[in-house]
Amino acid sequence: MATERLHLTFGPLPLINCTSCGFRRVKRYTSSTEENKDRDFVKCINHGPKFEGCDFWYWIDEYANFAT
Ligand SMILES: [Zn+2]
Repeated sequence: MATERLHLTFGPLPLINCTSCGFRRVKRYTSSTEENKDRDFVKCINHGPKFEGCDFWYWIDEYANFAT
């Protein structure tokens, strides 16, 4: 079905260690924005402006490509 939510397409995925900074395990979140409601994404705990942020950030469907 075209209306199937993306987050239902991807069940539990292994959370890998960050491939960018290699420092912390990545974490899975669910988007709450209007455009991507309920779409999961995965980012490094180090991601963000703090701690000279890590750039690891992927939508769950992109992440699934190399996490499995
Ligand atoms: Zn990282």
